[in-house]
Amino acid sequence: MNKKKIISIIVSGMFLFSSIPFNVSAVGIDGGKNISITAGVNQTYSNGLINYVPFQNVKINDNFWSSRIKTNIVVSIPHGIDKVTQTTIPNFVEAGKAVRGEAHGEVIGLADFGKGNGMVFQDSDLYKMMEAMSNAIAMDSQGDQEIIAKQAEFKAKLNEWISLVEAAQEKDGYLDTLYSAGYSDNQGNKFTIKDRFTNFSNHELYCMGHFIECAVANYRATGDKRLYNVAIKLADLLDNTFGPSPKRTEVPGHPEVEKALVYLSQLTDEISGKGTGDKYWKLAKFFIDERGKDKDKRTSGYNGDEYSIDVQPVTDLTKAPDGAHAVRAAFLFTGMADVAKINKDQSYLSVLDKLWDNLTNAKMYVTGGIGNTGSGEALGKDYDHPNQTSYLETCASLANGQFNKEMNSIYGDGEYVDILEKTLYNGTLVGVNLKGDEFTYSNPLQTSVSSRRSDWFSCACCPPNLMRTIASIGGNIYAQKDDNVYVNLYIGSETTIDVKASKVKIKQTSNYPWDGNITLSIDPTAAASFPVKLRIPGWETAGNYTVKVNGQDVDKTLDKGYVTINRIWKAGDKVTLNLPMDIQRIKADSRVAVDEGRVAFQRGPLVYCLEGTENNNIDVNNYVIKKDVKLTSEYKPDLLNGVTVIKGTAQAGKPNDYKTTDFTAIPYYAWNNVKDGGTSMVVWVMDTEPPYVAPTIASKAKASTSYCSSWEHLDAINNQCEPKDSHDRSNNVYGNWDKHGKQWVQYDFDKAYTISSSDVYWFTDDGGIQLPSKWNLQYFDAATSTWKDVEPVNQYHQLKYGVEPDKYNTCEFKTVTTTKLRLNVWAGKDQGGTEQSSGIIQWKVNEHSSDVSIDNFVVNSTFNLTSLQPGKILDAKTTVTNNKGFTKSVLAIVGLYDGNDKMVNVSFISKIISAGATESLDAGFKLPSDTTNYKVKVFVWDGTDLSSSAMQPISNMVTLP
Ligand SMILES: [Zn+2]
Repeated sequence: MNKKKIISIIVSGMFLFSSIPFNVSAVGIDGGKNISITAGVNQTYSNGLINYVPFQNVKINDNFWSSRIKTNIVVSIPHGIDKVTQTTIPNFVEAGKAVRGEAHGEVIGLADFGKGNGMVFQDSDLYKMMEAMSNAIAMDSQGDQEIIAKQAEFKAKLNEWISLVEAAQEKDGYLDTLYSAGYSDNQGNKFTIKDRFTNFSNHELYCMGHFIECAVANYRATGDKRLYNVAIKLADLLDNTFGPSPKRTEVPGHPEVEKALVYLSQLTDEISGKGTGDKYWKLAKFFIDERGKDKDKRTSGYNGDEYSIDVQPVTDLTKAPDGAHAVRAAFLFTGMADVAKINKDQSYLSVLDKLWDNLTNAKMYVTGGIGNTGSGEALGKDYDHPNQTSYLETCASLANGQFNKEMNSIYGDGEYVDILEKTLYNGTLVGVNLKGDEFTYSNPLQTSVSSRRSDWFSCACCPPNLMRTIASIGGNIYAQKDDNVYVNLYIGSETTIDVKASKVKIKQTSNYPWDGNITLSIDPTAAASFPVKLRIPGWETAGNYTVKVNGQDVDKTLDKGYVTINRIWKAGDKVTLNLPMDIQRIKADSRVAVDEGRVAFQRGPLVYCLEGTENNNIDVNNYVIKKDVKLTSEYKPDLLNGVTVIKGTAQAGKPNDYKTTDFTAIPYYAWNNVKDGGTSMVVWVMDTEPPYVAPTIASKAKASTSYCSSWEHLDAINNQCEPKDSHDRSNNVYGNWDKHGKQWVQYDFDKAYTISSSDVYWFTDDGGIQLPSKWNLQYFDAATSTWKDVEPVNQYHQLKYGVEPDKYNTCEFKTVTTTKLRLNVWAGKDQGGTEQSSGIIQWKVNEHSSDVSIDNFVVNSTFNLTSLQPGKILDAKTTVTNNKGFTKSVLAIVGLYDGNDKMVNVSFISKIISAGATESLDAGFKLPSDTTNYKVKVFVWDGTDLSSSAMQPISNMVTLP
């Protein structure tokens, strides 16, 4: 996995990775009844586990998911089958030949890493596709002929592929086509079966984990034991190879096999009798416990790092590591929860509480996505939530949902389902287009470029992961603990649950997520007393929900996020739940700096965004939706397959020149579905006007450049939005990644101006865009039709081309009269010494004012001493108010003069003072032991230091004594 720090590109996935099982919690686990242990601070892990009703036993019939499930089966899965047929099946064919001892080729594509096929974890794409196909077969077709036809195709294709997988398994159970068929990497190194289990930063155990999950799902869907048998043989090989010494004490670089082994353990218990599968979950626990331990005993030499969560024992973790790969982290945490469900390990539970708390409250985005940065696909720092470069891999959202489902299963608290629901409707569903044939890998929350989803990826972990999840979505709705029946999600559906001696048929009718009116028919075969627990979503913060049984209000007290209805249920009973769906304005935690002055909109479980497409193709990044604007919602059946939109008015345009306009917001999952891709899009929209830069002659100039990246904005450089710092891209930036060397930007003014200074505020993302190595200014000389360098103000002056971050770098120069000014910029290097590209947030040009004079400034100097006392520290405090129309750098100079009026000591300080602002400048020095006839003089010039000053005085001299 390439961990190299990169770039400012945000479009689609370049790295890696992975997945999730949604039908597995359905397994009937022994509830561990009547035990009660305290987990973490607030939670009690008591009286067994909540078991979800498997999707096979849930028939979905609604206005939202039914059509998505059908699209998944009719469009997405066949599309995925075509793709893996090209990219992965040939590897299994070659591996099969190798296992049989026949002449064979290598696996395809690895030498072309990144060019379309060939990743070290390519086998897992097939396994996830087979899992999706298995789930699709097991789903109730409800008589839909198109679905029935596809199910038949999937059965036939699975039959063919199962034989290929069986044939690719080595005699001792090993399964990885990469090593069986052999491969060459892109450095020309060759690997064969002899090299297996030598590189644990690669993905052998990850692929094996996905295979085991696939085998479990396939057995549960079809009852066919062929893949299960392959999985047992493989898991036995792992169990014989890895474990406490004298076995090998390695850990997988990419967690995944842990949860898979737990699911295999549960299935084996069901098939062969209780306890027969124990060795598999115990191996999972070994892999988890071994992380961060005994590293020098690992024979492979693989030592993981924070990226692989392999620095310290997992039970020592106090938070989700910032540098951890998001999917690896969420898979590991899920595996820990799965093990804890079996052995009730208190040490796992208390650490899971901390990990969950940190992940949810400091790292998760409003869409349920995790992993803020493409650099290492990592979780990133707490509260560091960039929007334009948010990575939020689709797999990471899926994994976060799965982790929360397992936590709900342990604790029975609805807050975990709140996150599961959030991921499903937002961070996950955005991963596929409405048509079902294009996918996302990374998911920004703000963009200003047209970026289509992709029809596949060279690193194709996300699409099949999404497919297997949608195919088994029904497994997230109902659950049971003893006699308690849980309704966790509101999706129109039917199921039958055994409670006591009764079979209870539940039929749910709703138009969720568009409205919150839900009806549940509860029909037991015989009247029975049992609790029905309805989850009240965490987004329903106002407490205005109502719950009725047969028209009568019932107690709506919340316990762990559920309303419990305890009664003797009889056939025909009806529960009605009303969840008012008001439009909510979400404010980010105040520690999330980039969302300051911004708001997100949510209605029910759906997070909204503004997209240029529904807003006359205007750049919605500039919209300001003020706090008091009235918002309305409206269902639009013809828009984006039917969505409820949010409407209101926004301020649009440039700061200080806003026009009121209507806006339309759509659910985030639905963005980027119009022919040419989404134009601009923003989730966290400004609700406060951004800090405003006073206009200069640049504000009306026409900008041009040698190159601007397609996702950046040349017009950002004079949009008059004040940056917070050099990383602030919230109001767009100019960038020229991945051009190196010299590039330029240019202003063409509306007429000739006389100019004498210019201010530039550099952009850097610390990756592909760095502070420049140098720059200069040239003006267009109309007389000779050539570009000429600007010149120093006078013979004492040097041009100052600053490259400092987080401030305006001001350059003053000898006045010129021109119609065009050009800024040449040479790219800087990153920390590794590699030349990168450059970027600008604002570039201002100041018209020369001949009276850069005392009259434009209010200057006041005072001293800490009333006389020159020998040996004392003299401190001169000067305040300067800039009454000019533009930013000016000023220099306060404190000089010590002897009796001959010769300067013998000097101290100075410079500050940049915005138009209208006041700054304080303190400077001074220690006085000599004899100060007879000495004087101290304070005066203020233009400029940033003595060498750059044009020596234009802007104050009268103040003298002591
Ligand atoms: Zn992925």
